[in-house]
Amino acid sequence: KEELNIIQGALELRTKTVEEVHTPLADCYMLSSDAVLDFCTMSDVMQSGFTRIPVYENERSNIVDILFVKDLAFVDPDDCTQLKTITQFYKHPMHYVFSDTKLDVMLEEFKRGKSHLAIVHRVNSEGEGDPFYEVLGIVTLEDVIEEIIKSEIVDE
Ligand code: ADP
Repeated sequence: KEELNIIQGALELRTKTVEEVHTPLADCYMLSSDAVLDFCTMSDVMQSGFTRIPVYENERSNIVDILFVKDLAFVDPDDCTQLKTITQFYKHPMHYVFSDTKLDVMLEEFKRGKSHLAIVHRVNSEGEGDPFYEVLGIVTLEDVIEEIIKSEIVDE
């Protein structure tokens, strides 16, 4: 029974899209690029429980960096380091995917390595103005795996 479910989940990867499984921007835990890594901010990050945190400039849809929690290992909260100092040091590459990317393609991307988190965007050509890239949220390997096994992975 469970095996059948998994096989079905795997087959559905070809039809489901990133948009159906992503975490919307409004639900993303993020930091503003002008944040200061004081005790308050650092404990907030720790409490969020996430390992990768998008960093935005001015508005949440403008993601400019990704902070890994492990980047904070050498940061002393008493130094009140600027978040920018850390992100500019590590410069983790950011990966974008279109929201209509099928999950089997997404899985292959994730398997190829580099990053297991991608920023989901789409071309917004609604409205009067020129079409523009609109960021919708983020997707991780875990979101794709959950579609295969068809159940929530409860985080540690
Ligand atoms: P983590 O390693 O941080 O627990 P996972 O890759 O295991 O992240 O993803 C677990 C779930 O949390 C996924 O649904 C993913 O979309 C979501 N997620 C990952 N990072 C964040 C974040 N910074 N804010 C909100 N949700 C996130």
